Amino acid sequence: MSLDKSRELYQKARNLLPGGVSSPVRAIKPYPFYTRSANGSKITDIDGNEYIDFCLAYGPNILGHAHPQVKEAINSQLEKGWLYGTPTEAEVDLADRIAGMYPSIDMLRFVSTGTEATMSALRAARGFTGKNKFIKIEGGFHGAHDAVLVKAGSGATTLGKPDSLGIPEDFTKHTLQVPFNDIEALTDMIEKYSDDLAAFILEPVMGNIGPVLPEEGYLKEVRKVTEENDVVLIFDEVITGFRLAMGGAQEYYGVTPDMTTLGKIVGGGMPIGVFGGKKEIIEMVAPSGSVYQAGTFSGSPTSVAAGLAVLDVLEKENVHKKLDETGNKVRSALTDIVSDLNLDYTVSGISSMFKIFFGDKPLDYQDVLKCDKEGYVKFFYKMLDSGIFIPPSQFETNFLSTAHTEEDIEKVLEAYRTNLR
Ligand code: PMP
Repeated sequence: MSLDKSRELYQKARNLLPGGVSSPVRAIKPYPFYTRSANGSKITDIDGNEYIDFCLAYGPNILGHAHPQVKEAINSQLEKGWLYGTPTEAEVDLADRIAGMYPSIDMLRFVSTGTEATMSALRAARGFTGKNKFIKIEGGFHGAHDAVLVKAGSGATTLGKPDSLGIPEDFTKHTLQVPFNDIEALTDMIEKYSDDLAAFILEPVMGNIGPVLPEEGYLKEVRKVTEENDVVLIFDEVITGFRLAMGGAQEYYGVTPDMTTLGKIVGGGMPIGVFGGKKEIIEMVAPSGSVYQAGTFSGSPTSVAAGLAVLDVLEKENVHKKLDETGNKVRSALTDIVSDLNLDYTVSGISSMFKIFFGDKPLDYQDVLKCDKEGYVKFFYKMLDSGIFIPPSQFETNFLSTAHTEEDIEKVLEAYRTNLR
């Protein structure tokens, strides 16, 4: 497998783009492959190597790459112009459909990324409650804005310290953290800070260290304790929204938060983010209220058109049931492989999310940190050599799409068997 052109391009790129990339996780060492095109389940690099893609742009492409119906929707929008700076009928339609599927969402605002969605959701929750602090889960990822870029505390839950240079500690002093799946820690934290606590934000299934699943009853307990203490509960469903079910993890687990953030799938692969929630909270957003939020590209017509097309396909083709079945099949086959090879590894996942943890079953971030991260990276390269593109980090989820064929699944399982050995 030659990667000459990618290597050469990287030499140029690293002088122009930090690490040669536009987002850190793409910086595969010693250099990433640069993509020429992608279609269905396959992604092709500029040297002509083709990979079966289980990374799928880190989540949005639940129908695979360049799905014909989504492409048609985007093309048809392009014919009519692609950015107006005015409201459109289509964004009202999409808002209506989302609100119909998510009981937590009476009203919503479109933004352009998941990062903006969680940033604005937290601002709205703070504006609504008049309180400053919020709790997040250790290791939970909610995008790259200041308040949520806080590293996990060292075992003990601590007040947030920024995880990046350039963020004054003052900006994260209101960020509190608790471990996932630990209702006692959450209850204690809420009690301790209730005077000034606006919100609790979490990924209902942790996708950015996993997938790490909520233990039986955890989300229901979370709902109960936040409700009792008037803490705004925000589900960050940027990954799980439209993936676990049309109504996301909240439908799947039957737990309704006060606010929800969405992204990825709902833009059909075009940039999008959504934050929505109870009417009394979202009505506080400008111009109807005094929580300021705005964006040139918000409600972008191409993103909205692509989103509507994806929702159509997801609904009409009963996609989630099929993906659940494929996911179960893959997880069970991987479990057999791990057991045949006598490895102390753990197969995790739900619906179309799957992953092998190179270690024991994790319940939270600290558990995931104990996994063999270097071993995973070596395995990643072997998979790439076998023509399989999985996320390059132990901390990212593999995704299945409707574009994966039975042959793709057989190939990936065979590659797991060979390369784990
Ligand atoms: N929240 C979650 C749960 C995410 O997984 C991500 C991105 N991986 C974000 C927020 C940020 O989304 P974006 O990259 O679109 O800003």
